[in-house]
Amino acid sequence: MPFLLLPRRRAFLGTALSALALPFLARPAAAQGEGAPLPILATTAMLGDLAGRIGGPRIRLEVLMGEGVDPHLYRPSREDMARLPRASLVLAHGLGLEGRMAPALARPLPVATLSEEVPPANLLPAEAGQDPHLWMDLSLWSLVAARIATRLKALDPAGAPLFEANLSDLQEELRSLDAWAIRTIPTIPEPRRVLVTAHGAFAYFARRYGIEALSLQGTHPEAEPSPRRIREMADMLAARGIGTVFLESSLPDRPLRAVIEAAAARGHRVVIGGELYTDAMGGSGTYEGSYPGMMDHNLATITRALGGEAPERGFAGRLARVS
Ligand SMILES: [Zn+2]
Repeated sequence: MPFLLLPRRRAFLGTALSALALPFLARPAAAQGEGAPLPILATTAMLGDLAGRIGGPRIRLEVLMGEGVDPHLYRPSREDMARLPRASLVLAHGLGLEGRMAPALARPLPVATLSEEVPPANLLPAEAGQDPHLWMDLSLWSLVAARIATRLKALDPAGAPLFEANLSDLQEELRSLDAWAIRTIPTIPEPRRVLVTAHGAFAYFARRYGIEALSLQGTHPEAEPSPRRIREMADMLAARGIGTVFLESSLPDRPLRAVIEAAAARGHRVVIGGELYTDAMGGSGTYEGSYPGMMDHNLATITRALGGEAPERGFAGRLARVS
């Protein structure tokens, strides 16, 4: 089965709210004209959410990849290619996450490749190069937020006080959630502290929050897993007595369901612990469609499904559908 590419939703997260309410200093905002919001384009919603929080009404934000879209496989349309040069700044992850966008991003554009601006000592290796899934560690994504604020200040110095205040609020929110995650994952009984997913998105999460991460596919899923890989995974789950796996919103369910069937054929019962937001966030306009919300959802879903203690509606009490 080919990987499903769901229809793209183009989320205009930050809109051109009136800039009149903001005190303008001497400098024009950008080449777009006096007081016009800066056009910023983010490849994924995880980056776009940070930019929207920091830039507020001083940016006009567009996000290429919406709910359910897998960035590893995303190919820009002709329309996307035309939108890229209209942005004052393109926010991208790098580290190979947007693999099929590489030719588009290699054009002479103002691109900030933000994961590559994080100090290299923080990065983990992948099958090839380094693992791009930094946002799974709230403390690392907070560093990326600071880099975005620096970029916005360079483009719009008059906005600096607003960007700094917004960054400070955002980082405080991320710090509280991170501190909660550090306390919460260890409430899972030690033998069950194993997170099994479809692809290798959780290495940073595992390192930060103290859980073992295993996956059917590697860090950069390109093709469907082989029947042999499915059998190996089922054997491993049976041998280790692991009884819970998690689906991912941006990947098809079928390969993990095949693992569950293969394990059942060996007499080992495996259940689905829930669906996690890994490489895409939830629906636009929902709490799960924000970066803190996607992480809160993941933390509460994982902790509760594996027998730990987390509130039904998550850290912030805003989750819709954690069972
Ligand atoms: Zn991924």
